[in-house]
Amino acid sequence: MDANALYLPPDKRRPLPSDDKPARPKRKPGVVIAVALAGLLALGVFVGLLSWRYFYSQDRQFFDPIDDPKNAALVTEFEEFLHTNYIVYFSAREILTPGGSHRQVGSKGYGLNRLPPRHLWDDMLASLFILEELRERFGGKLDIYSGYRAPTYNTAVGGARRSQHMRFRAFDVAPSSRKPEDVEKLYALLRQMRDDEKLFTGGIGRYGAWVHLDTREKNANW
Ligand SMILES: [Zn+2]
Repeated sequence: MDANALYLPPDKRRPLPSDDKPARPKRKPGVVIAVALAGLLALGVFVGLLSWRYFYSQDRQFFDPIDDPKNAALVTEFEEFLHTNYIVYFSAREILTPGGSHRQVGSKGYGLNRLPPRHLWDDMLASLFILEELRERFGGKLDIYSGYRAPTYNTAVGGARRSQHMRFRAFDVAPSSRKPEDVEKLYALLRQMRDDEKLFTGGIGRYGAWVHLDTREKNANW
């Protein structure tokens, strides 16, 4: 382009070949930069997602935490704790179950649960004594579906925001028979123990295949 063009009066200027022709190559670097930036941004998002997935996976345990060699000492201590407190119907493995979603591939909670921290163990005893009494009265085998839930796990499986499971004070328990009338029986037994005999204070929930019990400070039903 002619550097002097701007200093000449308009009528002395050499006519430009066309109006839009010089404009086009001018806009091009901008477009290239925009495309490059968009590409970089897309690449950044892609790499970000990949690394997020990678590190997120790193935080998951694809087996029961009770089987993690790092937890061996804690599990042994927990077994002694149960023994000391005369828990006879349920084993450490049953009580420390990470829950179905932890084991289910594809579930949002897959691999996310943890063992209950040591300072929560004493809080669990009240619920566990109720569970033992329930088992005694029911007279048949019970399966614990869910006990302690790590907060991350509780959120992932859609648990209540202030779930008693996070405090290791709640258990979801089902009759091994899977019979609906046995679920009803469990529920009735719990209501009797709490409402008629005042054996405990807490929450009782009835679900299709299991019952929930916890020992919060006041009664709750659902
Ligand atoms: Zn529950």
